[in-house]
Amino acid sequence: TERTLAIVKPDGVMQKKVGEIVRRIERKGYDIIDMKMIKADETLLRAHYAELVDRPFFPGLMHYMMEHPVVAMVVEGDNVVKGWRTLMGTTNPTEAAPGTIRGDFGRDWPGDEVRNVVHGSDSPDNALREISLWFPELTR
Ligand code: ATP
Ligand code: MG
Repeated sequence: TERTLAIVKPDGVMQKKVGEIVRRIERKGYDIIDMKMIKADETLLRAHYAELVDRPFFPGLMHYMMEHPVVAMVVEGDNVVKGWRTLMGTTNPTEAAPGTIRGDFGRDWPGDEVRNVVHGSDSPDNALREISLWFPELTR
């Protein structure tokens, strides 16, 4: 079994998609181990997106992720890292397949930010790293 960090990003919360997204996670048979609503701050996001800090879109990404609280979840199941990313769909919501969360709920927004509703860890190692950042109380 495996764990991943799933986040409903500000646009997902503002569009009232938390329940629908939780429903899809549960329908797939994954276990939600922990969940909280949190307003991300700059310190947390810089650590979380450490490999993206030098990208030109990073300031826009910070702005996007701080514009509203997010819902962070620790999700557990067989191959959940890959499986959750399959449920999410591709990064760019305009290219994401129908039936995926980003394909169904991602849309074009004004500005440079790619607003794509959800986050998922991209590897089991990154999942452990991200879970310890967002849920230090779990991994202490
Ligand atoms: P996430 O890590 O949020 O699950 P991802 O793994 O699909 O998404 P990453 O490459 O890790 O994509 O990028 C993290 C986030 O940064 C994206 O979800 C998106 O919000 C933003 N982003 C990535 N690439 C771009 C880009 N070229 N232009 C604008 N924003 C981008
Ligand atoms: Mg990523």
